[in-house]
Amino acid sequence: MIRTGCPYCGVGCGLVAEVRDGRLAAVRGDEAHPVNAGRTCRKPLELPAAVHAGDRAVTPLLRGGTDERFHEASWDEALGHVAERLLAYRPDEIAFYISGQLLTEDYYAVNKLAKGYLRTNNVDSNSRLCMSSAVAAYDATFGADGPPPAYDDIELASTILLLGSNTSACHPILWGRIRAAQQAGATLIVVDPRRTDAAAVADIHLQLRPGTDLALLNAFIAGHELAGAWDAVTAAEVCGVPAVAIERAARAFADAPASLALWSMGANQSVEGTSINRALLNLCVVTGQIGRPGAGPLSLTGQPNAMGGRETGGLAHLLPGYRKVVREDHRAEVEAHWGLPAGTIDARPGLPATDLFDALEDGRVKAVWICATNPAVSMPDAERVRRALRKAELVIVQDAYHPTETGALAHVVLPSAQWPEKAGTSVSSERRIQLMRAAVDPPGEALADWQIFAGAAHHMGFDGFDWTDAAAVYDEFAALTAGRPCDQSGVSHARLEHGSLQWPCRSQTDPGTQRLYTDGRFPTETGRPNLQPALPGDPADPPDADHPLVLTTGRIATHWHTLTRTGKARELVAAEPEPFVTLHPDDAQRAWVQEGELAQVVSRRGAVKLRVRLDATLRPGTAFAPFHWGALHAPAGHGGVNDLTHQATDPVSRQPGLKATAVRVEPVAAR
Ligand code: SF4
Repeated sequence: MIRTGCPYCGVGCGLVAEVRDGRLAAVRGDEAHPVNAGRTCRKPLELPAAVHAGDRAVTPLLRGGTDERFHEASWDEALGHVAERLLAYRPDEIAFYISGQLLTEDYYAVNKLAKGYLRTNNVDSNSRLCMSSAVAAYDATFGADGPPPAYDDIELASTILLLGSNTSACHPILWGRIRAAQQAGATLIVVDPRRTDAAAVADIHLQLRPGTDLALLNAFIAGHELAGAWDAVTAAEVCGVPAVAIERAARAFADAPASLALWSMGANQSVEGTSINRALLNLCVVTGQIGRPGAGPLSLTGQPNAMGGRETGGLAHLLPGYRKVVREDHRAEVEAHWGLPAGTIDARPGLPATDLFDALEDGRVKAVWICATNPAVSMPDAERVRRALRKAELVIVQDAYHPTETGALAHVVLPSAQWPEKAGTSVSSERRIQLMRAAVDPPGEALADWQIFAGAAHHMGFDGFDWTDAAAVYDEFAALTAGRPCDQSGVSHARLEHGSLQWPCRSQTDPGTQRLYTDGRFPTETGRPNLQPALPGDPADPPDADHPLVLTTGRIATHWHTLTRTGKARELVAAEPEPFVTLHPDDAQRAWVQEGELAQVVSRRGAVKLRVRLDATLRPGTAFAPFHWGALHAPAGHGGVNDLTHQATDPVSRQPGLKATAVRVEPVAAR
């Protein structure tokens, strides 16, 4: 029996892995864990099927020979090949696309290899699709990234605002805590175009038109100079909700003794995602709802270690310790820590995810190393990504499974260990660092991701990657955070053996920090939050007569990302076997489609076939489809939902606007 953390969402629940005969036999919740106290949602319970699935990647593969098929290779051969090929390129011709599934140690190792030694800042993560709008807003407003409150503030809040977050499906354990807080007397406000389970029981549900969050949030602070001309009446017209409901919600938030704002992808995955995040922070600051028990802005991360990725510099503009590549002093600090000559690290930010695949398609980037993510399914306008991968000179895919839709397009496949086969750390949405313990051996020759990056570095002739274990990798990273906002220099694997810790944690005796900014001081130049107006702009992909519906994409409770793990569990697949689109009955009638039929959903980029579900509580004009299914899991010829989505991004965070794609729905001609 081994205690560890959950590898799915950013809530960071504690799990117990039961091992029999070297195999993962069962998984259950850890009753001693401060976040979930033994509870879990459904997905982690089915992890044994995913860990022991038949399509685990077990040996390195190289594509070649006359038939261009994969053939097995030794690690020496594969990493020698990778080293030789990558060293032949200029630094800016190489890119890495990594993942919030990685542990902090993996993230640190790849950033060190790429930014310090290969001298490319083209290292971006699928967190770009998840949290980069929150990163940009926290940094601009508070002077540093990082959500200030803790989950324990849920029980201390008198009002809880949930915006753009289907928490009951995507963060179920937190939803349980929110619901319990509401039943104990807190007021729950849900802002969502869909009548989610949370919206259905909310005290106030503001079922706004998709993409009108900024009008609403500014109306919450009507009269303040940040709000411009927005008030409940003007916002009501744009948002399509009654002014009286907006006023009631705004009062409930501002006047409560303690109000907590929680949000996730509905706010972040927008072409105005940074502004929506800034508006949420403005709201908390202007109403004084920050820095106190039960109050503050708490963004919920989608992936298990999106936070650790931010802290280790896993985005193209960052360096470890929330440092920025454009800052000379930051580069110098990292170069000194890595023992590199001054001026080694490139001062130019690398390519964010969407640009990275554009550059791969047009030949500016020639080689991409993709790790623990499946962009052929998960990226917006996914056919463009697949096209780019087909054109690339070198595609290295490092994954626990083979083939994935992305791995099928690789030239080199590197098999990686996954949960619970490797040790390391993961950081949850409340800044809680916890130990992910190894419980079973990886299959075949699979290695921890940090070991693969270190092995590649050795083959390239680089020093500085001689770590003996994951604890040593973490120690090197933690030392680099000393004095930084995400300081975890007081944390080590040995200390985490006794329990998780919330950063900042500045010394061996520091118990960690539950809540940030309790003294009213922020790490800005003035010590005060830097508030700026966050006003609405134009949609990137507006509906018109040809594409009259706004499609919003998201997760469902039973599945995770591109089904590489949940697609292996019979019970989860039985619960949700195929991709679908949810429509309001009036929209379905106009489109001549009915419940249970296959429909063609068409955007300005492509068309996919999805099973129709009707939902009379959905806002008319809005459609919803989960993004989980790609070519390997969807019925043949159906396509993936990200073949529909557009790749327009927020201009500051460069996060794609995945929540608003103009589509039409039509009958499948041959049905
Ligand atoms: Fe895992 Fe998230 Fe479910 Fe907790 S809520 S058990 S972290 S998937």
